[in-house]
Amino acid sequence: MPITLKTVDPDFEAGFVRMLSAKREGATDVNDSVAAIIADVRARGDAALCELTARFDRLDLPADRLRFSAAEIAEQTALVPAEDRAALTLAAERIRAYHARQMPEDVSWTDPEGATLGWRWTPVSAAGLYVPGGQAAYPSSVLMNAIPARVAGVERLVICVPTPDGAVSPLVLLAAQLSGIDEIYRVGGAQAIAALAYGTATIAPVDKITGPGNAYVAAAKRQVFGRVGIDMIAGPSEVLVIAEGPQNPEWLALDLLAQAEHDADAQSILIATDEALAHAVAGAVDRLLPTLPRAEIAGASWRDHGTIIVARDLDEAADLSNRIAPEHLELCVENPEALAARCVHAGAIFLGAHTPEAVGDYVSGPNHVLPTARSARFSSGLSVLDFLKRTTLARLTPGALARIGPAAVRLASAEGLHAHGASVEARLAMLNDRGTE
Ligand code: NAD
Repeated sequence: MPITLKTVDPDFEAGFVRMLSAKREGATDVNDSVAAIIADVRARGDAALCELTARFDRLDLPADRLRFSAAEIAEQTALVPAEDRAALTLAAERIRAYHARQMPEDVSWTDPEGATLGWRWTPVSAAGLYVPGGQAAYPSSVLMNAIPARVAGVERLVICVPTPDGAVSPLVLLAAQLSGIDEIYRVGGAQAIAALAYGTATIAPVDKITGPGNAYVAAAKRQVFGRVGIDMIAGPSEVLVIAEGPQNPEWLALDLLAQAEHDADAQSILIATDEALAHAVAGAVDRLLPTLPRAEIAGASWRDHGTIIVARDLDEAADLSNRIAPEHLELCVENPEALAARCVHAGAIFLGAHTPEAVGDYVSGPNHVLPTARSARFSSGLSVLDFLKRTTLARLTPGALARIGPAAVRLASAEGLHAHGASVEARLAMLNDRGTE
């Protein structure tokens, strides 16, 4: 049974705080084994990659076969049924169109002192995308990570994906192809992250690593951060559905279950402004849950982390939503725009009953890599900006240096940095001799 809380009850606040602070992730500490794997790949390169791939993915290949050949990619992608190909192509086009609008502009202006200032954006040179492949294949993850990188202008894009027992997902390879990636290695786990960060004879190192993965992948990304950039460490997925008025309880129940079926640590929360609707949705969840192929996983998530809150009104619902800062926020209410304006901490908002969160996982266009575990309070989902660097630019005329330079000399002296002051003063002295424009 999920927790049910009513905001009118005196013990609501205590229950809500307990729900917010409950830890959902499994606490397996894999840091030591991951550190050993990274050290091994750094020391022995391809030999370690091959051994670890044989050990963890039961795939025994020489280093020169770790990369998928063009023929293998063509052969596998040809197996994709036409309907799947069309769906993936539609998703890729919509994701590309959405992310193209995120591309920021370079900025430059000249201020009244005569300094020309600004910044410009340049892509990282090489990015590595980790695509999980241990227990399932995630072609949508390929598109969501690769397309923003492509739009940003990243020149070299590499995919690492484990292929346990040699099993390849044709859809993952097709998603890579649609994203213009042909450098794909069948390497997974911490060893893939180590290879991407430090390089081996076969896999040249990259500058940034993105993409989800299991505990080993997440720990490895943490450990190589600094050597390379990383996107984020995503926790278990969450959805908050806010509902009022006449709604189809089955739709809402399915939205909650769609999140719950991700994994047992996922969390689905419903905030309804009327108790009858809350009951109707809870009943629909109970009816629909046993019909799901992933009923065991979804059932564990709903039982242990599912929550139903009955709020007085939408103002209260918005305040609670801001405290939850959900990864996904679905607003099934009469005027979703007005409510969305009040919900300021959320990774992605889905407005109206005809925008189920699941459509955002695949085809609506926005990125599905989003901040979890309340980090939407201070961070955003993956975007083109994650693959760009901003370099600041400044050019001073002699007059501008004459006007603002003395303040720099003053501040350098206050900080006790003599050469700093001298580097400005030397120029100011020359300008004084010559006179400035
Ligand atoms: P994975 O590719 O992340 O991990 C498989 C690898 O784990 C193996 O290749 C192996 O190298 C390593 N590994 C397994 N057991 C090990 C051990 N004992 N010691 C060292 N290494 C070991 O695939 P997965 O396991 O299926 O996990 C995928 C994860 O990604 C899931 O948790 C899933 O929920 C998550 N995911 C998240 C998103 C998202 O957008 N947030 C999307 C897709 C998947």
